[in-house]
Amino acid sequence: MGEEMRIVLRNWGKIDPLKIEDYIGTGGYESLNKARHMSRLDVIEEVKRSGLRGRGGAGFNTGLKWSFSHNIPADEKYVICNADEGEPGTYKDRILLESDPHSVLEGMAICGYAIGAKKGYIYCRGEYPFLVDLLNTAIAQAKEKGVLGDFDVEVRMGGGAYVCGEESALIESIEGHRGEPRFKPPFPPVSGLWGKPTIVNNVETFANIGPIMEKGADWYAGIGAKSYPGTKVLSLTGDVANCIVIEVPTDTTIRDVIYDFGGGVKNGGQFQAVQIGGTSGAFIPESLLDTAIDFDSMRKIDATLGTGAVFVMNRTRDVVDIVTRIAKFFVHESCGKCTPCREGSFRCHEMLTRINAGKGTAEDMDKITRLGRIMQKACLCGCGQAAPSPILTTLQHFRQEYERKLAAV
Ligand code: NAD
Repeated sequence: MGEEMRIVLRNWGKIDPLKIEDYIGTGGYESLNKARHMSRLDVIEEVKRSGLRGRGGAGFNTGLKWSFSHNIPADEKYVICNADEGEPGTYKDRILLESDPHSVLEGMAICGYAIGAKKGYIYCRGEYPFLVDLLNTAIAQAKEKGVLGDFDVEVRMGGGAYVCGEESALIESIEGHRGEPRFKPPFPPVSGLWGKPTIVNNVETFANIGPIMEKGADWYAGIGAKSYPGTKVLSLTGDVANCIVIEVPTDTTIRDVIYDFGGGVKNGGQFQAVQIGGTSGAFIPESLLDTAIDFDSMRKIDATLGTGAVFVMNRTRDVVDIVTRIAKFFVHESCGKCTPCREGSFRCHEMLTRINAGKGTAEDMDKITRLGRIMQKACLCGCGQAAPSPILTTLQHFRQEYERKLAAV
């Protein structure tokens, strides 16, 4: 039986998020004080040694990322909290910000100190307008108490575009431009907001920083999977008995997530598939449920942990129909800047619609496989690169569902 372990959700339901005194009463902002008494490099080294990897989906070593910005001399540097949680089925960052905004502000301020930045932005998802007031209240309280020192934070609201969760599109949006990804390199830690070194980290990543500074890198590195230590916050949706948010050590298996925490398939239904990591995640069959959720174990089965969305499907679900709807989402959300994504998403959806309607051919299946592989390599950003994953993994694990539709021609 797996057990929950709350590090970033430690204050969820226990404190009033609108009262900074509550947060301070739990030892809040002591990690920031501790960090300020250390050298910048020692702070970065501590985060690096903890093994913390980005919780927005890409799993890049956080301390290493910070070191890139630290090492570049610049008159201005920036810290951005990516709260543009646009991945369907993902609502972990919303819960985190709603329940404990100061833990995120503290993580951002520690990052600011470590890299030498005095300005931070929280880029909040356009569909979360209710969070803006709460965040502004938290920032005002922190300023009044003087806990952030000379580190200033501002909230910016997105306009509802999925692609703006991609860090360089997000940066373009803050600069007042159309939200389109930039060519990389240079990566934002080297040249980001207004061409200055910029750290973009996810909400959950920042919320991990305080506890790491408080309890130490060794403590954190010893939790969960060795190559992706710590915990992961997961949001469970779909045909699962308990649609909840949980925080578990990263060596927890997918099966434990669904059955121990999720209570299994709801209404006594039979399991068919689970999609992990959001809309762009892989479809995983029953035979792979004993895989641990950590980044590298998931990679071994051609899946990504991504944002930690867990979408369970029962046997009655039409997998091809679901994948067709997902493809439509990507047609809508493609920003259109690069051809492989703009044209590829459109063509994938076109072929899937044909197959789903019982009018597809075996040639369509071959073409869509080739196109999906090209998109994974040729698209400019993570949006287009990840879009074919549901198609390719269902063709791999649920091919009979497609063939059944072809046979109906
Ligand atoms: P990435 O691997 O390109 O980059 C990860 C991070 O590391 C970035 O901050 C990047 O700047 C930095 N980085 C990488 N190489 C670097 C280098 N050589 N020098 C300096 N910095 C470097 O991934 P990405 O495009 O940022 O993110 C893709 C992921 O986003 C996907 O895996 C997906 O799971 C996730 N995603 C999340 C959401 C959400 O709602 N949270 C939505 C869609 C996708």
